[in-house]
Amino acid sequence: MLDHVINEALNRLEAREGFEARPVQRQMAAFIAECLQAGQTACIEAPTGVGKSLGALIPLIAWILAMGNRVVVSTYTNVLAEQYWRKDLPLALELFGEAGRELKTQLVMGRSRYACIDRIYGREGNALEPALLRFLKEWVPLAQEGIESELAPFLRRKGVPEGLTRDLWRQIATPPACRARACPHYASCFYYRQRRAAASAQLLITNHSVVLTDALLKANGAEGLLDEYDWLLVDEAHDLPEAARSALEFELSPETLEEIIRNASSLSHQIANALEGEQRPDALLNAIAELVQILARGCHAAVAPLNMADIPSEGRIVAIAPPDLMADESVQKASRTDWLPAMQAVVESLQGELRRFYSEIKRELKHHRLQMSDRQYEAVREAVNQYASWFRNLYMGLNLLVNPVEGVSWVEATPMGWRACCQPLEVGSWLAEHLWSRQPATLMSATLTIDGSFDFFLRQVGLSEGTRTLRLPPVFDYARQCALYLPPRGALPPPPRSAHAHDAPAYYRAIAEQLAEILRATRGRALVLFTSRAEMEAVRDALPPMPQLRLMVQGDGANADLSQRFREDTESVLFGLRSFWTGFDAPGETLSCVVLVRIPFEVPVSPPQVARHALLRWRGEDPFESWTLPLAKQQVRQGVGRLIRRADDRGVICLLDARIHTRPYGKQILANLPPDIPIHSRIEDAVQVLNHAPPLDKA
Ligand code: SF4
Repeated sequence: MLDHVINEALNRLEAREGFEARPVQRQMAAFIAECLQAGQTACIEAPTGVGKSLGALIPLIAWILAMGNRVVVSTYTNVLAEQYWRKDLPLALELFGEAGRELKTQLVMGRSRYACIDRIYGREGNALEPALLRFLKEWVPLAQEGIESELAPFLRRKGVPEGLTRDLWRQIATPPACRARACPHYASCFYYRQRRAAASAQLLITNHSVVLTDALLKANGAEGLLDEYDWLLVDEAHDLPEAARSALEFELSPETLEEIIRNASSLSHQIANALEGEQRPDALLNAIAELVQILARGCHAAVAPLNMADIPSEGRIVAIAPPDLMADESVQKASRTDWLPAMQAVVESLQGELRRFYSEIKRELKHHRLQMSDRQYEAVREAVNQYASWFRNLYMGLNLLVNPVEGVSWVEATPMGWRACCQPLEVGSWLAEHLWSRQPATLMSATLTIDGSFDFFLRQVGLSEGTRTLRLPPVFDYARQCALYLPPRGALPPPPRSAHAHDAPAYYRAIAEQLAEILRATRGRALVLFTSRAEMEAVRDALPPMPQLRLMVQGDGANADLSQRFREDTESVLFGLRSFWTGFDAPGETLSCVVLVRIPFEVPVSPPQVARHALLRWRGEDPFESWTLPLAKQQVRQGVGRLIRRADDRGVICLLDARIHTRPYGKQILANLPPDIPIHSRIEDAVQVLNHAPPLDKA
């Protein structure tokens, strides 16, 4: 029955203009239907072009309609989640006719992605530029979700200059806690309206951060962000380990102090707002304002021991678990365990300040109870209780800095001074315990396998080797659409060990010359991917002038702006770092060449990297073979995956790392690229695949 409904929906999809029959999409939908009926978690590698969003949404919707279940669809970024919400989901629902249109669905973003109406209409709104405030008040009743991506185009249409909107979102975003039900805007509040709708929705679209924060809150016995659900679809699943590491990371820095003080002030604003409308006990407000000042002074004094001059920028390990890892030579070199007492003192002092702040607030409320009406008192109590969980999480997180659980804590220097952090060494066991044990899931991405196997990914995310998997074949004709250019053996020197190595300048010059030759042949239209900012800037500086091409370098503007300019300008070149290796989409002629300057091997420099390598050695594994190399293969696949996005795309991949010829892993890396790509050792031959205009003349 389920299969029949799915096939009918796929027939309707294929009958639409601009769509065509895709056997691999049908294969994927049938596989997901099988898993849904058997309640089995599974991983799917669906190469670009399969139509994986619809291939997954169609069986999920059919299952919800048949069984009345609840499903959460998660992807990596807000942008991708909105794409599901505005494009893929409406189309998928349409395929189920009336039943699809009636299905309750909801987009769920993190709290700070929604505008707070109280901050716009309340006392804080008065601090905004009057013209801007007028536009915001005009926007509130028109907004559907009340999120930033709705506001930005509205303000642009109103002709509001960019400068005026800078920092605006920080001033109007929903705070981490508020007086909730006691707020006069509660009924129309964007965030709480979404939460109410989400509670009754059967299909939720969200991002990994929300799913992981929800699981973390539930693991700590707190109320989650999502009500219980029956199935989880994880798209862009290759990014899940990274998302889990950041969700489980705890950080203390001067920015955290600002956040503590900002939230304490926000609590004080919320209390003031809660008291409005009736006689206000000013003595209480003054006392709370004073407590915020005391907290601010206390926090700054508490972290004074971390204002040390000798913290290196790459950081030093302060504590590690399991403690046996401290015996590892590289951990010892990267450690300053003598800083642990200072860290303990900081943690204890900060926790003391937080405890004092909260107990003093409660004491003041009690003291001024008789000066408040029952309504005022309840509203104030609600605000205080709502903030309590934010402060409690912070309090508990601080413990991790001195007592990491299966993790590492460290201190590093930053432009703002210092940063103390704690991160788990692995996220797999946490995901297994707190995510996969709750409900079955489907995890999918265009790149989940290494050397044709899912094992590395399964291990990273804590799924057993017996997990069901499906690896779909490539959809595009890579032999016809693509060419691989490898400079001949000996044409380029091997990469230097660091940007400061003696052979680095000669290497950058050689890469820049090679790159200029490539860019002339492709007339720009290239995404050049680097692994370090220092290297990217050195190559840019060594590049001969190419006045015909517009060169953009990551960091010259917001990534979204650079991406847009690159898509629109077909004679441009974009130099990018990590964020452009994955998820960047520029279909068509504008991206006709992807250059990988070097194989993206992780160099264990930062404390979490050093600790992760030490853990593998402790277990008797070779960190290069079991971590660094598979990760590099995966990243190369993702970088190369930027090139061919449509059936009519054509492009050249250039791999400039000389080690591809000289090291045994070179062949393995090439074997992980899409099959049958013709390899050339002359760029003039490789660009024949493009059928573009002739190359640029040498300047
Ligand atoms: S309920 Fe909270 S988030 Fe919503 S408008 Fe009121 S204060 Fe803002």
